Amino acid sequence: SPLLEVRGLTASVKETGQQILAGVDLTIREGEIHAIMGKNGSGKSTLTKVLVGHPHYEVTGGTILFKGEDLVDMEPEDRSLAGLFMSFQAPIEIPGVGNFDFLLMAVNARREKSGLPALGPLEFYSIVSPKVDALKMDPKFLDRNVNEGFSGGERKRNEILQLSVIGADLALLDEIDSGLDVDAIEDVANAVNGLLTPQNSVLMITHYQRLLDLIKPSYVHIMENGKIIKTGDSSIATQINEGGFKSIALV
Ligand code: ADP
Ligand code: MG
Ligand code: MG
Repeated sequence: SPLLEVRGLTASVKETGQQILAGVDLTIREGEIHAIMGKNGSGKSTLTKVLVGHPHYEVTGGTILFKGEDLVDMEPEDRSLAGLFMSFQAPIEIPGVGNFDFLLMAVNARREKSGLPALGPLEFYSIVSPKVDALKMDPKFLDRNVNEGFSGGERKRNEILQLSVIGADLALLDEIDSGLDVDAIEDVANAVNGLLTPQNSVLMITHYQRLLDLIKPSYVHIMENGKIIKTGDSSIATQINEGGFKSIALV
């Protein structure tokens, strides 16, 4: 069975009942890279948040199967332990928790689930340190609190550091390129490409061709009004880049 299979997914804002997702169908197999593009407000971020179980949204219909298991009634923490990772478009601050401790806790929770012994701080430091270097981050940054006082670019790099340390079967990357300069986008893309194996999959949301030139998608989807209205190969992205969304024939 596919890694992720979404069928007829509808979801609303919990507080108001306003429907945002209007019947999303999406299939992601092992080793595939998918990109979702679409105008602002089309529901891209909501889709990723609903997949990870964000508490602001309620699934009102349809199914989400991850590794054949129904995600809809699973807690966000369990979805994450099951191998789903999300980078937030606006990453959250976690006051009072240091980056290093946060990462170590996350890694050890997964090791425990797999029946592996916990890593100690020294052993873990030797694993994290080269990844910090690869992302051209200041090692001091491991001592700082999660996302507290980080610049936009530091937050994005930190999200990718989390992904590269924790690992994921499916990484949902929401606008990891927004607010990054060209060099930073390249560092982040290299880090993501370094994680790809025939088993790992990525779903990325982006407005920019540049990211798709660096992380080559197997499929590009166009989202509009809470639905995926077109799926194709990376030539769709090129078309949008040149002629805007109106240049895509919706057939
Ligand atoms: P995109 O990521 O494609 O720009 P979003 O998923 O962020 O779009 O939002 C889709 C639509 O749903 C927008 O009109 C947005 O204002 C609305 N929306 C999303 N989340 C909420 C929320 N928690 N409360 C109210 N409206 C929301
Ligand atoms: Mg948006
Ligand atoms: Mg968004």
